[in-house]
Amino acid sequence: MGTLGIKEAVAEGRVKQHIFLPSGRQVWTVVGRKAEHWVDPHRGYCTCPAYYFGGPAGMCYHIKCQGYANSTSNFDTIKFRDDEFGGFVTGLVDDTLTAE
Ligand SMILES: [Zn+2]
Repeated sequence: MGTLGIKEAVAEGRVKQHIFLPSGRQVWTVVGRKAEHWVDPHRGYCTCPAYYFGGPAGMCYHIKCQGYANSTSNFDTIKFRDDEFGGFVTGLVDDTLTAE
């Protein structure tokens, strides 16, 4: 299966906003074909290999998905406690490193 179009990916609910409380810290992720990628729209950063290995800054597929989801208010919001942040990030990075 090829990569979904951005609208299709957003419609499937692949963009997630994770909010850590009470700080209100936000982490955005986009579920790709093989892994869930951490997207930081404010810094134009994504953990995917396409971005890391020289994709145009701020323009990878996942960042585009996040931007589209945000502008259309079409994303899942998941709430966590602040003390869950470390474990959450560790899991995300492990997932990214073991995939594609
Ligand atoms: Zn990406």
